[in-house]
Amino acid sequence: MLSYRHAFHAGSFVDVHKHITLRMLLKALRKKESAFCYIDTHAGAGSYDLQSEYAQKNREYETGISRIAAAEDPPAEVAEYLEAVKAVNPRKVKERGEFRYYPGSPLFAKQLLRKQDRMLLMELHNTEAPILRSGFRDDRQVTVFHGDAFVSLNANLPPKERRGLVLIDPPYEIKNEFQVLTQALVKAWRKWPTGIYAVWYPLQGNQPVPQFHYDLRTAGLRRIFIHEFSVIPDTEPNRLAGTGMLVINPPWHFSEEIEALLKWLVPALDRGAGRPPRCEWLVSE
Ligand code: SAM
Repeated sequence: MLSYRHAFHAGSFVDVHKHITLRMLLKALRKKESAFCYIDTHAGAGSYDLQSEYAQKNREYETGISRIAAAEDPPAEVAEYLEAVKAVNPRKVKERGEFRYYPGSPLFAKQLLRKQDRMLLMELHNTEAPILRSGFRDDRQVTVFHGDAFVSLNANLPPKERRGLVLIDPPYEIKNEFQVLTQALVKAWRKWPTGIYAVWYPLQGNQPVPQFHYDLRTAGLRRIFIHEFSVIPDTEPNRLAGTGMLVINPPWHFSEEIEALLKWLVPALDRGAGRPPRCEWLVSE
């Protein structure tokens, strides 16, 4: 039984980090004319109402999108990300300078697909998957798989385009989620070693992130870049303190660009962690 619902967390600092990264990777893929395929293994519902009971419970968007929505002169990547959020909101809401709706990763990606590109969305949850499917009904660029992320991923690799991005964004609710993820990632990479893979992971005291990094470092994969930051002090094992992303085969200059961007974003989202971000290659060429 899956209990995670992304609506509780929509627009949080994690989403801001993840979705800006996602947009940067997709924009890099758009630099070449040839088609790409975007695969979202844990797609969620696709879009979220920030006024819903779920989102209002902890108002997590106040740790993320709300902190930067009115930023003066943000970097171009942040400004474009804010425009992408505005695009899914009705005009009246935008005029009041607030956001009612927040796009999930599938909607951010959809905004950047060209007519030659494709998107494969995977979601296991029995409530979320039908919502996701109805959001993309009659959209021939989009295929929704209602089932397990890694079974669906394995069945669809390599995509026929031979170019593209896989976003892996699990809820980390089950104990061995990192192990399952590592095995699936290594298997996927063996089938499609030239694809870009972006994996989100939590920075939280009780999560085995160093082991996850070690396992990937020693698995034979190449070109793995991580970037991560905390927004609150990491003092409680069960409290999410920060956000990390691991990118395999990042596009040219991505590592420098994200490092530069985090110099602006991390102070903007910080609530007492007071630490600089960590940006490094786990494995280079
Ligand atoms: N990627 C989404 C976004 O950025 O808008 C958020 C995804 S949320 C963090 C994780 C999603 O994974 C949840 O919707 C959950 O139902 C789904 N999920 C959990 N286990 C799964 C599995 N084994 N296969 C596919 N989806 C799964």
